[in-house]
Amino acid sequence: MPAKKKRAKSKIVELPKPPADGATRHAKAPEVESVAGELIPSPGLALTHLRDQKILYLFTTAKQIGCNGFAATRLFPAWARPLGRFDFLIVVSKIQWDNAPERVRLAGVAHALSHCEISDRGAATIAHHDYEDFGLVAKRFGAWSEGGRIVAKQLRLLDDGRDAFAKIEQRLAREELATEAHNANGEQKAAD
Ligand SMILES: [Zn+2]
Repeated sequence: MPAKKKRAKSKIVELPKPPADGATRHAKAPEVESVAGELIPSPGLALTHLRDQKILYLFTTAKQIGCNGFAATRLFPAWARPLGRFDFLIVVSKIQWDNAPERVRLAGVAHALSHCEISDRGAATIAHHDYEDFGLVAKRFGAWSEGGRIVAKQLRLLDDGRDAFAKIEQRLAREELATEAHNANGEQKAAD
């Protein structure tokens, strides 16, 4: 048991746990719905397939929810049927929403929407990330979440590594040229 605890601690990103049922309160989130309404037809985010989908947007009193703490996307659960017929349920942490700048709100909702997928048979399904975030969301909004910032840092490290490697390659190439020139000189001299 202690070994297991240790391993969990060394993880880079600790995913927040969804709130226990009944521990939190929910309310309708028209602000989120309006942001989603702007994002769904927006080119470059690959969300246009959601135009005809019914999504219920709720706020939760939970401080953290879903894969990034900001929002959770679920297939519309049977227990929520009395609220209406929907394909997906998106629940946003009200505290996160209230404290987020505009860009993070847009990115958080774009991320939540990116989890909504329609299968080839037309069934609502939940899409998995194509990296720590969704590539198209990150392309539009940058590293907006903690997980995204970690990935960005790692990518910068890769870039730094690539730059360092390129410098070494350039130096080796210069040295090689110098050696060739030196040898050529030597041969020239020998020929003279
Ligand atoms: Zn996610």
